[in-house]
Amino acid sequence: MEKVKNITILGSTGSIGENSLEVISNFPDKYRVAYLSANKGIPKLVEQIRKFRPIGVAVMDQASADVIHKIYGDTVKIYIGEEGLNTIASNVEVDIVINSLVGFIGLIPTIKAIESNKRIALANKETLVAAGNIITKMLKSSRAEIIPIDSEHSAIFQCLVGEDINNVSRLILTASGGPFWKMEKENFASITISQALKHPNWKMGNKITIDSATLMNKGLEIIEAHHLFNLPLEKIEVVIHPQSIIHSMVEFVDGSIKAQLGYPDMKIPIQYALSYPERFPLSSLRLNFNDLKQMTFFEPDIDKFECLSLAYKALVNGGTSPAIMNAANEIAVELFLSQKISFDMIPKIIQKTMESIKIIPEPTLEEIIKADSEARNFVISNINNLIR
Ligand code: MN
Repeated sequence: MEKVKNITILGSTGSIGENSLEVISNFPDKYRVAYLSANKGIPKLVEQIRKFRPIGVAVMDQASADVIHKIYGDTVKIYIGEEGLNTIASNVEVDIVINSLVGFIGLIPTIKAIESNKRIALANKETLVAAGNIITKMLKSSRAEIIPIDSEHSAIFQCLVGEDINNVSRLILTASGGPFWKMEKENFASITISQALKHPNWKMGNKITIDSATLMNKGLEIIEAHHLFNLPLEKIEVVIHPQSIIHSMVEFVDGSIKAQLGYPDMKIPIQYALSYPERFPLSSLRLNFNDLKQMTFFEPDIDKFECLSLAYKALVNGGTSPAIMNAANEIAVELFLSQKISFDMIPKIIQKTMESIKIIPEPTLEEIIKADSEARNFVISNINNLIR
């Protein structure tokens, strides 16, 4: 019998984390929860510990550690801070790391997991956006592997099974378009937080939901796809597909196109990232073509959704440019969510930050980390000028 695989979930109280736990609990003879991590969702983490009895957990501060310790004593190991995330991503007994951290903080734990030859089921897209060149280089000299959880990249990954990447002529990333793809641009300034948090098809965390509304999410995914599949920007296209049924497509040199379809359900890509190259049963809602009736497609408007063209620009610039863009976006989204800026300021802030900070070509990891904090500091200290 095959050995039960030990899994670490970084970010277990978020939407991907909770879906992952559901998938894992369906296969007690295949998978076991080894470590969990949470930042703000401590009450939820307390419940997850009760249910899954992990070896240990990582939390971000001493106060959270005290809460856990008071309830569970020494029955669960407690790690604190970013060092804790690195530890549970690389511990020797761990086979698979599900990285569903939000933002740049997901980068170093991914690197630690690569260094320790883990399978990484990657939902944290900022890892590849900020440091794609470094990550892909590291993967080449490691037994580690990255299997994407992001639904578009999982779709492409599934379409590529058994194929030669040299025979790919195009990747076609689908985008729902978010809640505003039909709205006139002059109304973007008055978009409220609750409007922006209402994604038509997917239930996700706040940061990615805002990214979906600005289409920065698709921009990040283009960069992610470029690194994951080692294809140039010219071979990566985006099409608006409001129903989110086709999760993405691959066109081959003979003109044949493969697609992966299904009702939006993150459990499918999560489970596939764990089970690949095998497939296991999943009681997901099955596609009913009679109910579906139609699927529609539109060209994305990059003048309206400036974040998309900023992402293209960052990828063309190369070096630290995607890291700078990502950092400025993370801060801009936080500012929007705390009602400090209007929705239309998000791309403005990112653009000005990208123009103001010097790009380092072929950066080291340290230079990427520095570019990230430089961009964050730039936005925070210049915010009044940036939104003028
Ligand atoms: Mn996605």
